[in-house]
Amino acid sequence: MKAAVLREHAEISIEGLPRRYPHLPLKENPLEIVEVDIPTPTRGQVLLKIEACGVCYTDIDIVEGRVHCKLPVIPGHQVVARVVEVYDETTSLKPGDRVGVAWIAHTCGECSYCKRGLENLCVDFKATGCHIDGGYAEYMVAYSDYVYRLPGNVDPVKLAPLMCAGAVGYRALRLTRMEDGLRLGLFGFGASAHLLIQVARRLYPSSEIYVFTRSHEHQELARKLGADWVGHPSEQPPRQIDRAIDFTPVGETIQRALELLAPGGILVVNVIRKQTPVNLIYEKHMWLEREVKTVANVARRDVIELLEAVGDKPLEVHVEEYPLDRVNEALRKLKVARIKGSAVLRIQ
Ligand SMILES: [Zn+2]
Ligand SMILES: [Zn+2]
Repeated sequence: MKAAVLREHAEISIEGLPRRYPHLPLKENPLEIVEVDIPTPTRGQVLLKIEACGVCYTDIDIVEGRVHCKLPVIPGHQVVARVVEVYDETTSLKPGDRVGVAWIAHTCGECSYCKRGLENLCVDFKATGCHIDGGYAEYMVAYSDYVYRLPGNVDPVKLAPLMCAGAVGYRALRLTRMEDGLRLGLFGFGASAHLLIQVARRLYPSSEIYVFTRSHEHQELARKLGADWVGHPSEQPPRQIDRAIDFTPVGETIQRALELLAPGGILVVNVIRKQTPVNLIYEKHMWLEREVKTVANVARRDVIELLEAVGDKPLEVHVEEYPLDRVNEALRKLKVARIKGSAVLRIQ
């Protein structure tokens, strides 16, 4: 089968961008498109024929060595696929079923986190396209308890972004303990937020949603997707917000969101790494019972609840489509934020 393989870490080369990792080789095409054997499912697994796979910023973190995975690895953790072969009969899955695979590939089920429903923090968390080969290929294996049934009649390219951008965004929303009528602020409006605003609109019909983004293009999309107010992060919104989600890579957003948060408000930060420092002043940003929480990984519950919320009314999903052969081009464009919505590989 054809697959895109990462053999060694590399800095993805972008013209005009200064080197950040001089110890790594500089590569325009860090993933090699090669022929490899179709994997064989073992106990608890299914073999999947992949239809589409989303490209995520985490894949850039994997290529550049900021997220630690096995090497060589086939990345890709926003998978839409058809079941080809079922190893054992303990699952209700059958050949031909359409399923999705997300970042969570396997957990131990026994540690204190797993037992408390926090499997995303499992001490033995295995990630798709990282510890286990993922979806930048024609086939992959997955654990049958960690795949999700998807509608068979929707374009797979439009479903792929739900598996990470959508699911992790949903986890962030869930962690805000949002309630209908509360005012929600979204900071940054890329792949995740453009899905999440639509989900929030459905779940919280009487809530106002404010979107803060620098990009005029993203501001326009936010208005189109139902934001009640849209502005630059430095602008003053009409009222304070009760809940906030930060999708941006800069530390300053945390300060800004907390400044705009009402007493008792909750900010959830949906970012692995901030590129600039976070400078908080206790009295100004934290006092009056404001809370800050971060999001790590994703639990099965997040994917399941998101798919339930979407139901049979598909979200408006903005995608840029690439064939598997051009995955490196998609990574380069994503690295410089030139993708509108989500980048997705159409595999077959
Ligand atoms: Zn992802
Ligand atoms: Zn565990």
